[in-house]
Amino acid sequence: MNVFISADMEGICGVSGRVHWSTDGADYKRAREWMAQEVNAAIEGALQAGAKRVVVKDAHETATNIELDRLHSAAELISGWGPLGSMVEGVDRSFDVVFLIGYHARATTVSGTLAHTWSHNVLDLRINGQSIGEVGWAAAFAGHFDVPIGLVTGDDKLAAQVREELPDGVETVVTKTGWANTAAQMRPLAVVRDEIQQAARRVLANVASLSPWKPTLPLTLTIRFREWENLSACEAVPNVRRIAVDTFEVEAADCIEAQKYFATLHRLSRS
Ligand SMILES: [Zn+2]
Repeated sequence: MNVFISADMEGICGVSGRVHWSTDGADYKRAREWMAQEVNAAIEGALQAGAKRVVVKDAHETATNIELDRLHSAAELISGWGPLGSMVEGVDRSFDVVFLIGYHARATTVSGTLAHTWSHNVLDLRINGQSIGEVGWAAAFAGHFDVPIGLVTGDDKLAAQVREELPDGVETVVTKTGWANTAAQMRPLAVVRDEIQQAARRVLANVASLSPWKPTLPLTLTIRFREWENLSACEAVPNVRRIAVDTFEVEAADCIEAQKYFATLHRLSRS
């Protein structure tokens, strides 16, 4: 079996603020090590359950957080961002399951640790009217290739959203309890890593019971931005409708086209 792992940092046990997640943060070096260790726990569990190939996509900020010599020696690493800007870019039909490690709740989640959706500037992202976070967005991209999400790790608010956004059967490991946007109660590091390893093993034993997330196509993508003042360039993208001062809507043939619209509109929103 082949496993694709996408790793973010905000949901990693120990991470609660900018001091950790920003490359210029005082505790960033420690946080990137915690991130690598949680990913390694998932890899170890997958290998114990018979995984043949494990590919890890670094998906936080610069996407250069995981140091190759700190990653499990059996895994391959995708470092940096691909042209589509997807957190699961690189997944294809050769993979059996995706793990999302260190993820976080979507923007505007009360008490969600470092809750956001892709960037500071996205307030709400919807597929066919359903509000989703980075977990749902990654699941839709992977679902295009018929690959299901099997394991998600992050805070307790994220675990609740996984049940809301994704098909049944996804394993979650809660790394911490979200107290506020920059506060969390951490569970013991070793316990969290052990649970991730065990969960990864269980997921591989039960892959056949998982379903990919496949929204009804063509899908309607709706993006609401936080900063409404400089969005006029987004109106120049073909087929895109501005339905409110801060909100854009577009029909996409599939989830890859939706990712292309999202990446383009997001880049233009910052110009
Ligand atoms: Zn991140």
